[in-house]
Amino acid sequence: MSATVGFLGLGNMGAPMAANLVRAGYDVRAFDPVPAACEQARRDGATVVDSAAETAADIVITMLPSGTLVLDVYGELLPVAAPGTLFIDCSTIDVADARTAAERATTAGHRALDAPVSGGVAGAVAGTLTFMVGGGADDFADARPLFEVMGGKVVHCGGAGVGQAAKICNNMLLGISMIALAESLVLGEKLGLSHESFFDVVSTASGQSWALTNYCPVPGPVPTSPANNDYQPGFTTALMTKDLVLAANALRENQIDGRFGELAAEIYTRFNQTDAQRDFSAIITDIRDRIGGLGSNS
Ligand code: NAD
Repeated sequence: MSATVGFLGLGNMGAPMAANLVRAGYDVRAFDPVPAACEQARRDGATVVDSAAETAADIVITMLPSGTLVLDVYGELLPVAAPGTLFIDCSTIDVADARTAAERATTAGHRALDAPVSGGVAGAVAGTLTFMVGGGADDFADARPLFEVMGGKVVHCGGAGVGQAAKICNNMLLGISMIALAESLVLGEKLGLSHESFFDVVSTASGQSWALTNYCPVPGPVPTSPANNDYQPGFTTALMTKDLVLAANALRENQIDGRFGELAAEIYTRFNQTDAQRDFSAIITDIRDRIGGLGSNS
């Protein structure tokens, strides 16, 4: 294929996504301020450039930690990119920032999609990410071949910002359900219910959830879950906290009485002060610690 792709943000997620595009035959112009990230991209076959502006290409993908950075980078790129460049932001950012980014891109004569992902680093490496996309149908159709290289499932959710909306709605639900599951497990511990019996009953009863059956926060029942590996991430508490704060802000901005979402953001924000780099399922250890509970897998 002939499209050139600019790629900004070669971190845990961006590096393997860019590498998959190179493997699929795209000419990738990559930039990251961290030299080690650039070295890796070079080894993966990308052309590494010295500034954000030099990534200008037919399609420009951003995979950055915050909305502020996305807007900063757009500020550098929009004036120098060729008219009609398709900007795809895959970062997880505020819906309002995503809409601002899209508006600035279109005002400058370009096209824009928000396309956050789920599936984590493993999904980025394997090229099996889920993309949830906001923006126009024609732009979505043009971007689809790239999504299919980097991902498995691709959903066009609606107009600008609606991809980000899907992402924060899902992660708010996941954060709340992980806390609820952890509280329930700790209560079971206190009442003498083993983790195995809890799992056998609840995984097929009305309290069943993805958090329990795929990502169980205690060792044993789901051997692949981070709890079996001392809560090595997985999905860090820092990233879950970021997403929950985005969701809580959106609840308030939309005047929704979203108490569980607000509380989940508060609980993870506190946990994040001490355990930012542990997997988010380690929240169960915080619940045990705060009640002076059993503190062991009994
Ligand atoms: P990361 O911190 O590993 O990578 C971010 C990269 O952006 C870093 O290498 C950083 O140097 C680079 N960067 C910063 N400023 C830049 C600039 N001006 N120009 C170019 N590059 C710049 O983060 P990550 O884990 O790769 O996550 C990236 C985004 O993906 C975040 O928005 C995150 O919420 C989202 N996300 C992460 C996961 C996950 O499991 N890690 C899953 C889904 C979504």
